[in-house]
Amino acid sequence: MARVSWVVKSGKRLYGRVLGTYAYLVVIDLGTGQGMCTCPRGGNCKHVMAVLWEYERGNYIEADANLITAEAEVWRFAAENREFGKEIILREIGHALKTDESGSRVGELFLKALEMLDGDETFRLRLSMLFEEFERIFYDHAITGIIASRLRGSPEGSSP
Ligand SMILES: [Zn+2]
Repeated sequence: MARVSWVVKSGKRLYGRVLGTYAYLVVIDLGTGQGMCTCPRGGNCKHVMAVLWEYERGNYIEADANLITAEAEVWRFAAENREFGKEIILREIGHALKTDESGSRVGELFLKALEMLDGDETFRLRLSMLFEEFERIFYDHAITGIIASRLRGSPEGSSP
């Protein structure tokens, strides 16, 4: 099932990231209504439809015209809107666990997620549950131990 990770609007352009069999990038020209997608169909697909659906419901980030990449805009926005950032990272990790055979992308996402730990125990718990799956698959990766200690350690004097 395709799920929209985020939508960014910059001028008349709409950018969206859709998590399907793989992760796809969608670009829609709101002026012409034309959509492009990185899936095999290249557009006119359920990914473009899914991004439009979210956009029409107001679920998008308004970016200014000097946008560098839509993804950079998403993380800039997430830094200011922590709850939004947490939802995105959990969604991305959940998807990457199913699709990233190297473990590199998931590892990167976990490192990003660790920076979002702020004493929110629900977030830590949800992250830990996803990490258990990562740990089972990539138990022999050095990064696994690093993430485990940072995720399960007791930082800032909190008791375990
Ligand atoms: Zn598509």
